[in-house]
Amino acid sequence: MARLVLKFGGTSVGDVARIKNVARRVKAVYDAGNEVAVVVSAMSGQTDSLVKLVDAVSSKIDDAEYDVVVATGELVTIGLVALALKDLGLKARSWPSWEIPIRSDAAHGKARIQSIEVQPLLEAMKRGEIAVVPGFQAMGSDGRITTLGRGGSDTSAVALAAALKADRCDIYTDVDGVYTADPRIVTKARKLDKITFEEMLEAASLGAKVLQTRSVLMGMKHKVVVQVLSSFSDAPGTLVVDEEDGVEDELVSGIAYSPNEAKVTLIKVADKPGVAARIFGPLSDANINVDMIVQNVSDDGKSTDLTFTVGRSDLKRALQVIESAKAQIGYERLVSAADVVKVSVIGVGMRSHAGIAYRMFQALADKGINIQTISTSEIKVSVLIAEEYTELALRTLHTAYGLDAA
Ligand code: ASP
Ligand code: MG
Repeated sequence: MARLVLKFGGTSVGDVARIKNVARRVKAVYDAGNEVAVVVSAMSGQTDSLVKLVDAVSSKIDDAEYDVVVATGELVTIGLVALALKDLGLKARSWPSWEIPIRSDAAHGKARIQSIEVQPLLEAMKRGEIAVVPGFQAMGSDGRITTLGRGGSDTSAVALAAALKADRCDIYTDVDGVYTADPRIVTKARKLDKITFEEMLEAASLGAKVLQTRSVLMGMKHKVVVQVLSSFSDAPGTLVVDEEDGVEDELVSGIAYSPNEAKVTLIKVADKPGVAARIFGPLSDANINVDMIVQNVSDDGKSTDLTFTVGRSDLKRALQVIESAKAQIGYERLVSAADVVKVSVIGVGMRSHAGIAYRMFQALADKGINIQTISTSEIKVSVLIAEEYTELALRTLHTAYGLDAA
């Protein structure tokens, strides 16, 4: 017997038939002798509609009232899932966040879970009752309902699994696991049996949309075993595990890409102390997240070029910030491009093996793909390339690292 948290995303509870399907899945896990808590998202598209309603009624920003509205999506699904479970003859009950409670800070719209009072849930589960808990919401330290930021149900589920000391947190979604690359682009992509938390974290922040980044951090911190699997098939999923729990002994576990990048270059900035701070200070003040940064030493000791990347949606603001700080920074010209994509190879095997980056550069060179910018961490190498080469680059790298399905 195990204690399990099962999380179902928006598409898994997208209509009545799917909600009944979820109930059957939960029943099978329960009938196998497990203690079960279920975490659900809102029905797919529901949160988007609620956000639109808020925006349509008022242009004022009121995060507390926003939370009151958007948190209702998950209240609907916990009730419906509990009903569907009871229909199958199971004992079940829905638990709105304040009835447990799940406590968070009062940062409305982007709250962080602080604690979960699991005693009432544990008692219910011991009685053989299935606890149905909403993702995405909590009770803030101001006593009002909060939401955790879009995609936050993953984090709710992992946090609940940690608090319940569950044996595993199963995240049911519309893909059947974590793949070596986006299977819609790389047809030879394979499903991984296991991936480490660190690789998953890189993958999530590099564009793979399987799990919300914060949920991965949470799982890593509390050592929750997380499994990603499909609610529409019986295939085993992908286990997200600690590095010591062993992963397949590939050097590289996957190729990720992020299309929402933009590149900014300052031509001829002075090569002297303080210049980088004068560029990135105003960007940070404007809350613009900078990703890759490249600067070389100057040849003549006077000036050099500096390139950095930002999210595409921040490009306009970044250019405005740099332009209005032109006098303080000092540069000749500002150029930018939004038709770029970041492609990354990820793998904990890199820690102990040489030549991973070389293989990437050679494979891209063989296809005539120019690398504009490079950045690395201990377990990933990222390059910025022209967007038009995205598919070619992904497929080429997938083959180059021996990841193609047989
Ligand atoms: N329903 C919320 C959203 O759409 C939370 C989630 O699905 O994870 O962002
Ligand atoms: Mg989601």
